[in-house]
Amino acid sequence: MTECGDARSGPSAPSPGSGARTPFHLNLHEHAFDVAVVGAGPAGTTAAWALARTGRRVVLFEKHALPRYKTCGGGVVVRARKWLPPLEASAFETLASRASLHLHRADGRDLDFESPTTLTVDLAMRATLDQALVEAAVGAGAELREATQVNGVRVERERVVVASSRGEVGARYVLIADGATGATARLAGWSEPHHGIAALEWELRVDDATWTRFRERTRFDFGDVERGYAWVFAKRAHLSVGVLTTRRGKAELATDLERYLARLGIVPREVERHGFVIPLRPRREGAVRGRVMLLGDAAGLADPVTAEGISHAAHSARLAARAIEEGDDDVDRTGALYRRSLEAQILGELVWARRVARVLYRRSTREWLLSRVGDEFVAAMSSIVAGTTTYRELLLQPRHYWGLFRRGARRAKSIASAP
Ligand SMILES: Cc1cc2nc3c(=O)[nH]c(=O)nc-3n(C[C@H](O)[C@H](O)[C@H](O)COP(=O)(O)OP(=O)(O)OC[C@H]3O[C@@H](n4cnc5c(N)ncnc54)[C@H](O)[C@@H]3O)c2cc1C
Repeated sequence: MTECGDARSGPSAPSPGSGARTPFHLNLHEHAFDVAVVGAGPAGTTAAWALARTGRRVVLFEKHALPRYKTCGGGVVVRARKWLPPLEASAFETLASRASLHLHRADGRDLDFESPTTLTVDLAMRATLDQALVEAAVGAGAELREATQVNGVRVERERVVVASSRGEVGARYVLIADGATGATARLAGWSEPHHGIAALEWELRVDDATWTRFRERTRFDFGDVERGYAWVFAKRAHLSVGVLTTRRGKAELATDLERYLARLGIVPREVERHGFVIPLRPRREGAVRGRVMLLGDAAGLADPVTAEGISHAAHSARLAARAIEEGDDDVDRTGALYRRSLEAQILGELVWARRVARVLYRRSTREWLLSRVGDEFVAAMSSIVAGTTTYRELLLQPRHYWGLFRRGARRAKSIASAP
């Protein structure tokens, strides 16, 4: 099998980013690719799209026939849209223009906060969103192999051979984007188990009045689930309601979710129950092994505060695509470029996010924080998911603490002097 990399090293190789599909591809064995991508979620499709549009030969494997259901709230925040391929409005069900956060306390003194400015969140059913992403990748020139499970990765000196339920292909690089429970990383040499937190997502048919109550805002509730939160997202004709917990070990999430529905007065006409895991810890073994790189949930990149994973899935995909463009067939350089950019733009930020998560997911610190500076916290989180600030900036800039301290002190005083 001729290697893409061998051919690319000649003088006629296109410059990265030229967008041209050049004759040099014609010399290749029909099953030789520049990049094989495993998994057609936001990470895999974004990588396939970004690479195919610069003229790379890309094959995209997806084990399911498409479109396929994916357990997910489908909340696509502004910072995610920045990294995903451009999408038509038809990829989404609804657009929520505000968010609200509620603290439910055992003593009944609940607190409610509103996002301060318009905080838009596109709400999608993942079958439709991911299908639109696949179409973007295929439209850019990627070759889709759906209903094709990858079940082997063999690293050779000049290439990687990807074995699937429908035969083998050779590629210069393999991007593993097979999600939170994918096994492909293990096939490629990663040995550590991949941990995720438990989450439930139920799709509810409700009466019009109930749907209308939730249609304008994404709603997040703390206090109903130990070390976790609950949410309600209004889709086009139903509600997506979910709970997650960061607590390890046994959890009674289904009971928590039933209790949450009862507390909000939601009486579903029909319920479709789904559950899955969300990986909130990056892999200790890193995201690069020679010609193989991990993206998105496969690398453990979901946000430890919000547990949303689409932003970093698409962002990591762009970083890997960029590294391949810039590193070309220099494997060490490509790996180093991806490792460095991932560290600088995502992993470093996740360290700061984990500090915020520690405060938010412990009942005592959460109640202390939200009762004093709940509005400011919601404003800060709104800016983070909108991509206008970062956890690092939030925690490092002294003006935030000064503002919090002053407002917190004022509020504590007014509580103390209340009759
Ligand atoms: C209940 C719940 C609610 C969530 N809500 C949100 C939310 O509102 N907003 C948000 O941003 N994030 C949310 N997330 C997280 C989000 O779903 C993930 O972080 C995101 O899907 C990760 O994208 P990915 O492309 O890395 O993986 P995935 O989207 O999981 O895609 C992986 C793909 O790989 C395929 N695959 C797996 N193994 C193989 C194989 N061997 N061969 C071929 N294909 C394979 C799978 O079929 C799948 O299509 C939620 C998660 C859960 C569980």
